[in-house]
Amino acid sequence: MSKQRAKLVVGNWKMHGRLAENATLLTEVAAGASALQNGVRVGVCVPYPYLAQAQALLGGSVVDWGVQDVSAYAQGAYTGEVAADMAADFGATYAIVGHSERRAYHRESADLVAQKTRRALDAGMTPIVCIGETLEERDTGATEQVVGTQLEAVLLVLSEDEASKIVVAYEPVWAIGTGKSASAGQAQQVHAFVRAKLADKGAAVANVQLLYGGSVKPENAQELFGQPDIDGGLIGGASLKSKDFLAICQAAQNASN
Ligand code: PEP
Repeated sequence: MSKQRAKLVVGNWKMHGRLAENATLLTEVAAGASALQNGVRVGVCVPYPYLAQAQALLGGSVVDWGVQDVSAYAQGAYTGEVAADMAADFGATYAIVGHSERRAYHRESADLVAQKTRRALDAGMTPIVCIGETLEERDTGATEQVVGTQLEAVLLVLSEDEASKIVVAYEPVWAIGTGKSASAGQAQQVHAFVRAKLADKGAAVANVQLLYGGSVKPENAQELFGQPDIDGGLIGGASLKSKDFLAICQAAQNASN
């Protein structure tokens, strides 16, 4: 019997934004999100330089903020890296780890992603662990093997209690930024598989929030979020427009009615 989990919608701004336009976007999102009910949670993961701005403009609102990556190290001589504790200093709630763009462009291994997950937890943040297959992997029937291996690497370094505090985002690489979302059925199928893997880790882990990411739009959000194992979304492009992002948040509320 599936337990009713609260919905969560998190924006991933990627490398977009400037001070002036962020101010408008953050203010509009905070105002719009205040009308949401049914325990729908909303967050935005901004580029590091804008973390203080997010804290200033979202503090006291219902919207949480976070970062798109953290270092695998706690501190030290790692030029250009940003430690999880530093993000936590600015009130960050979420840390995306293992986004496919980082796995692909920065050669992040499954083990490195696992270390980053641990750092985020140690800093008191909620890691949003991204997993997903490429089109080639899907076409060769390797989806479950790929996402299973990515997830296992993370679960291996966490206790059951720690694992119960993560969020997992299934983001098929072929759906990210392409305008071509997975169908609700395709997404649910993988989410059910991921849910079963989480359950293997322990009863407390079985109910972590599982987000879907990849070309979520106001038009497809409600059907996706209405699936039994989809607890919300990680939103890229559509999180840069307050109207679209808030419509997706509203879809999460409708799906939990
Ligand atoms: C993402 O990058 O996490 C993402 C889901 O992007 P988009 O919504 O633009 O596909």
